[in-house]
Amino acid sequence: MNPGDLIVRNATWLDIEAGDYCEGDLEIRDGRFVDVDAQPSVSDVREIDAAGAYVLPGLIDCHVHVTAHTADLPALGTDSPNYVAMHTARLMGDMLDRGFTTVRDVAGADYGLHDAQVEGLLRGPRLFFGGKALSQTGGHADPRGRGESYVDSSATCSHIGRVVDGVDAVRAAARDELRKGAHHIKIMAGGGVASPTDRIDSTQFSLDEITAVVEEAEAANRYVAAHAYTGRAINRALRAGVRSIEHGNLMDDESVALFLEHDAFVTMNLVTYWALMEEGREFGLSQENWEKVSVVLDGGMTALERAYRGGVNLCYGTDLLGGMHRHQSREFALRAEVVPIIDIIRSATSTAARLIQREGELGVIAPGAFGDLIVLDRDPLRDVSVLADARPSQVIQAGKVVAAGG
Ligand code: ZN
Ligand code: ZN
Repeated sequence: MNPGDLIVRNATWLDIEAGDYCEGDLEIRDGRFVDVDAQPSVSDVREIDAAGAYVLPGLIDCHVHVTAHTADLPALGTDSPNYVAMHTARLMGDMLDRGFTTVRDVAGADYGLHDAQVEGLLRGPRLFFGGKALSQTGGHADPRGRGESYVDSSATCSHIGRVVDGVDAVRAAARDELRKGAHHIKIMAGGGVASPTDRIDSTQFSLDEITAVVEEAEAANRYVAAHAYTGRAINRALRAGVRSIEHGNLMDDESVALFLEHDAFVTMNLVTYWALMEEGREFGLSQENWEKVSVVLDGGMTALERAYRGGVNLCYGTDLLGGMHRHQSREFALRAEVVPIIDIIRSATSTAARLIQREGELGVIAPGAFGDLIVLDRDPLRDVSVLADARPSQVIQAGKVVAAGG
């Protein structure tokens, strides 16, 4: 029996594009769907019966940090990578249990974790990674307090970023991350919450530096993802060719026009601000950084509504740190206040797949796509809590049942 072969009988499965359910048996061979409406008759294949349940493509979270076992990101840099990997294994296994069969890590994960997942050493979602994020001196991934002068940017340290200044240096850093297999290059294009010396309203990197990184990523048929909150930071990044904006909480109307013009994506992550307000300090976020959270939380819901109404490509993201990772599915409930549930599901499946350059292969139930599925007890289009507050009764990845029991 091939472990990547599976037949899901009597499935009520969601056609993501149509936004409606189909009925039938789903056949997965060697990890991929071979047919979605034929009548498979073979008997040498494992079968599960999904009668009465609702079947969706496996979910994709486009903004995670699988190495962030603490919210105190500057402290992460002093941990042993081996120690961090043990935490990562736990965090990634939990993500899979929640139905996320694919994640995009946007600072921290590397080829070692990617390879371990592919080889089956590490139970977790498929991992798309960017290596270390590029930050200017004093930028969002510069971990130093004002009195500290040393930054360890060595390949093996656990810090999520590297500090680089100047066109030549950022170009070399981008090439270095691509050399190590990065699926995208992450840059810090504006201020952030969990960083010691920058302001939320700052822009970071010169236009020349951003343009150089975009050029390197595109040369390798990859793309740039930029951390940016304000309209000012977002708009200059989009104009410079950045394809993926992370957060975007303080975007303006011009941002919406630029997203459409460039067919760019925004990955918001309201849940992390909700969680940081609730629990950030007990998981290591400093008082000063905690106070920055309210600024971006207030803008987030308004920006989501603005982006949705404007027709911007929206992706599901969470950006949770430390013990707050357990709220990963709550983003569904927060977004449901302004976005129809089918469109939130698209943001976590088909639109996400387009962002990570795997359109038609991930986030969809169709011939040739990877056999990644979640089985839910109730209809998520009627009741978002089955996604937000419960776990799937079964999670299937490349035709293997990888989590079961709800
Ligand atoms: Zn960020
Ligand atoms: Zn992040």
